[in-house]
Amino acid sequence: MAGDKKIIIGNWKMNLNLHEASLYLHKLSNLIQIRRDVEVVLAPTVLTLQSLSLQVNLRQFKLAAQNFYWRDHGSYTGEVSASQLRGIVQYAFIGHSERRHIFNETEKDMRNKVAAAIRNGICPILFVGETAWEKSNNETRDVLHDQLNSGLANITSHEVKDIIIAYEPVWAIGTGHNASPTDVALAIKAIRAQIEHLFGERQAKAITVLYGGSVTPDSSNDYLAIDGVDGLVIGIDSLNAFTFSEIVKKAHKGSALAKIRG
Ligand code: PEP
Repeated sequence: MAGDKKIIIGNWKMNLNLHEASLYLHKLSNLIQIRRDVEVVLAPTVLTLQSLSLQVNLRQFKLAAQNFYWRDHGSYTGEVSASQLRGIVQYAFIGHSERRHIFNETEKDMRNKVAAAIRNGICPILFVGETAWEKSNNETRDVLHDQLNSGLANITSHEVKDIIIAYEPVWAIGTGHNASPTDVALAIKAIRAQIEHLFGERQAKAITVLYGGSVTPDSSNDYLAIDGVDGLVIGIDSLNAFTFSEIVKKAHKGSALAKIRG
């Protein structure tokens, strides 16, 4: 991975209003200490991003946009651009399965968004993962191959080190269905192999790859222990500050243990 640091992201989806988000942040900042080995990223709704960006201690938490439009400005009613998010967020999601499947975002949208985030100094987090149907047809590898080829088509091997890939099997998101660590390990290996094919061995080793899909405090360290997993995306269990803080604390303890063993 890109160093020893683990990244833990809380995806709040369309939850928490302005007041609730502010209270949550206050609560979480009392529960989580600043650690050099764990970076905590919060992805609230776009409505609360600006206000949280003024309250947040960036040494403690970073912010991510859950979505944005790839053009920088213009007549696109209802949209927010990466250039408008510049200075407010450090990360931006691209192609979360809920965007792909509920809002029908296309591969062209993904690659334009990756380029827009990079152009605006925001780290893109490109989500990839297979549906239940694709998994049952043994198509996971092909799906990852196609999503990576397409999502990363506009970027150079110099830029790829500044991109994060989040592997989230669609069937595991918000369902309580857990992917087996063996399956996750195979998918992460396939992702790095495809990055190597596209950009070279050095980039494949350096790129940050996360896992997400019904991760809880009980399962988080099993996923973090998988070779090649650099962090986690937490949906439902990030909505409770205490539960989320448990995952962050375990990530810290896990990496501390790994260092002692290593
Ligand atoms: C997500 O939405 O990215 C996610 C991982 O959700 P959950 O943890 O609820 O499966």
